[in-house]
Amino acid sequence: MILGDAAGFVNMLKIKGLHNAIDSGIQAAKAIAANIDEPYKAAVTYTELIEKSNVAKEMLSARNFRQTVAKFGPLQGMPLSVLGGLLPKYRVETDYEAMTYARYRFRPNREFDKDTFTAVAATEHREEQPSHLTIVDSNICETECTPRFTSPCITFCPAGVYETVHDEVKPANPSNCLHCKTCQRKCPFDNIRWTVPEGGGGPRYKRM
Ligand SMILES: Cc1cc2nc3c(=O)[nH]c(=O)nc-3n(C[C@H](O)[C@H](O)[C@H](O)COP(=O)(O)OP(=O)(O)OC[C@H]3O[C@@H](n4cnc5c(N)ncnc54)[C@H](O)[C@@H]3O)c2cc1C
Ligand code: SF4
Ligand code: SF4
Repeated sequence: MILGDAAGFVNMLKIKGLHNAIDSGIQAAKAIAANIDEPYKAAVTYTELIEKSNVAKEMLSARNFRQTVAKFGPLQGMPLSVLGGLLPKYRVETDYEAMTYARYRFRPNREFDKDTFTAVAATEHREEQPSHLTIVDSNICETECTPRFTSPCITFCPAGVYETVHDEVKPANPSNCLHCKTCQRKCPFDNIRWTVPEGGGGPRYKRM
């Protein structure tokens, strides 16, 4: 069973997907409860329930948005995606066939790294403000996390905030923080505290 974003249940016209993630979870639970010992039947029931649900209705109403934007670019594609449903003057293909990365015409012809993405987010914090990220017990990092998990915060932070400095893991670049709070959720030892930074600090999403 594939649910939520994994199944593409985001209404891209509204950029809303939480309700569909929850709804598809409810349908999956119903299908499993009705077919507790028969996984194949549960999967079939799940598909039927989704097709009858609000998820399918909404996805139908928002279909072709991504494909139209991919085909014509955001400026022309967004209005066309609304009109396109009424006046289909161009060939619309099946989404799952058309929407592959390989066929996305507007992708920049270069690779991106974390630093570039962080720069694009235009994050701004006063450089001298106290760090809004704290590692509660650095001993845990050194003796438990690094030997077992190789300090995953260094990898999972999308902004490269955590680094090993003189053999100690630290939130070395707090001013890059994107406020996603991944670190507080994903640290295997619940060893990171994210607090609200000074007012006005953070990514400048409107300038992206
Ligand atoms: C910037 C932004 C703004 C949004 N705003 C809104 C909004 O205002 N309203 C709205 O309704 N929707 C909004 N959405 C969409 C909404 O967030 C998603 O549709 C919804 O969170 C999808 O939920 P999900 O449970 O399907 O997936 P997710 O929330 O992505 O959950 C998937 C989970 O699986 C975990 N995972 C991935 N791989 C593995 C693995 N191999 N092993 C274990 N765990 C794994 C991930 O870490 C994650 O925790 C927004 C999305 C974005 C990106
Ligand atoms: S993930 Fe958590 S415990 Fe591991 S090194 Fe980072 S802060 Fe320390
Ligand atoms: S909140 Fe997100 S961007 Fe900021 S340090 Fe934690 S993981 Fe990195």
